[in-house]
Amino acid sequence: MVHVEEILSKLIQIKSVNPPGGETEAAKYLKGLFDAAGVRNEIIESAPGRGNFFAYLGEGSRRIVFLAHTDVVPVTPGWDVDPFSGAIQGGEVWGRGALDCKSLVAAEAYAMLELARQPDKLKGQLVFAATADEEVGGTYGVKYLVERHPDKLRADFVVNEGAEAPLKINGKLVYFIQAGEKGAAWTTLKTRGVSAHGSVPTLGENAVVKMAEAVARLSKHRTEIVLIPEVRTLIQSLVHLRGDARRVTKSSLDGILDGFPDRAFREYLRAITRMTISPNFIQGGIKTNIVPDNCTADVDIRVLPGQGEDALLEQVRRLAGKDVEASIPDFNQPSFSPSDLPGYRSIDRTIKDVLGDVTVLPCISSGATDSRFLRKAGIPSYGVAVMDRDTDPALQLTVHGRNERVDVKSLEVQARFFVELARGYLWARA
Ligand SMILES: [Zn+2]
Repeated sequence: MVHVEEILSKLIQIKSVNPPGGETEAAKYLKGLFDAAGVRNEIIESAPGRGNFFAYLGEGSRRIVFLAHTDVVPVTPGWDVDPFSGAIQGGEVWGRGALDCKSLVAAEAYAMLELARQPDKLKGQLVFAATADEEVGGTYGVKYLVERHPDKLRADFVVNEGAEAPLKINGKLVYFIQAGEKGAAWTTLKTRGVSAHGSVPTLGENAVVKMAEAVARLSKHRTEIVLIPEVRTLIQSLVHLRGDARRVTKSSLDGILDGFPDRAFREYLRAITRMTISPNFIQGGIKTNIVPDNCTADVDIRVLPGQGEDALLEQVRRLAGKDVEASIPDFNQPSFSPSDLPGYRSIDRTIKDVLGDVTVLPCISSGATDSRFLRKAGIPSYGVAVMDRDTDPALQLTVHGRNERVDVKSLEVQARFFVELARGYLWARA
C-alpha cells in the first residue's frame, strides 16, 4: 500500500493554486488510488477544472464524512525548495499545501484505503470528500455541494480542518476540537461633506475628518466580553493547567489572559471572547487642495455565535455617529456545532486513544473554514489538528507562508486517528 507521505508528496506536485484552482487534477489522482483499491468514487465538477472528489465505503444509517480541501494559496518567492516539489527530506514533506490542507487530504485518503481492506465490518457509511475552492470562499466547493448535492455531505458529523495546533502547558499536551467559528461581518462606512478650496477649508465640510472621528470611536470602543460555554471551558481548563486557581469570569478574563506568555495564542483567546472591530481600509478625497466631499471605510468586524446582523448594525451606527452611513453588504453568520453530541465525543475519545495521556478541549476559530456551510445546513462539523506529540510548533507558522512543511510522524498519527475514529463509530462490534 502507498505510504501517506507519498500521497501528500504527489498532491503537492499538482499545482491546484486558487485562484484559479485546477482541483480536478488532484481529484483525478485520488480517483486513480481509489479505483486501484476497488472503492466506489466519483468526481463532481462545479465548473470546468473545479473537481470535487468523493469516495464511499460501507452502507448503513450511521454516516461520517472526512472532509478536506485540495486547493492551496499562491506562493511568494524565497523558498528553500521548489514549493511544488513535494520533497520528502529530514522526516518532513515540503511544499505548498503540506499543512493547509493536503496533509489532511492525504491522511483521510490513507485511512479510508486502509479501512477498505476490511469493508464488511462497517455498519455505516464512511465518505471521503476532497473538495475545491476553500481558500477563495467555497463557491465551487462545499458551498456548491451543499446547495446542489445536499445528500452527499449529509452525515451524523463531518471532520474537517480548523482546530488550533496542539499546545504544551506545564508539560501537559493539549489537543483541540474546533466546534465553531466567528462570522465575518465586513462593514462599509460612508461619510459625505461639501467640497471647497483647500485654502479656505471653513467653506467646506470635510468628509475625511468626519470619517477619522468615526473610525477612532469604533476602534477605541471596548466590545462586550462574551463567554460562550465551550470557550469558558477552554480558557478555564487552560488556566488550571497553568497552575492558576482563579475563576474565569467576564471581569477577571483580561487580567488572566495578560499572564499567558505566547502572544499569538493569548490574542487569539482574546479574539474569541468578544466581537472585534478593525477599520482596515479608507478611501477619501482626490487632491491636496480640495476639501473632500466623500469618504468610505471598510471595517473588518468579526462576530461570535449568537451575535446577529441587526443588533450589530445598530451598534455600529450608534458608535460611528449620525453623520455616518453604515451597511453590511454580505453578513457571514458565525457557525457552531455543540460539544455534547456523539460526534464530538467520538473525536475526543479517539484523540485520547491515539495520543495517550493528553487533554482535549473545545475551541472556536477567529476565522472561517468550509465547516460554516455544513453547520448552516444543520450538519455538525468539527475541526481537528491531530499532530504528533513531538511535532515542532514552529512548523505551524509556515501555513500560507514560506517553506510550508509537515513532519511525517504527524501525517501517520493523523491517519491513525481517522482509522480509529471510523472504527469506533462505524465498526460492528463482534
Ligand atoms: Zn485550509
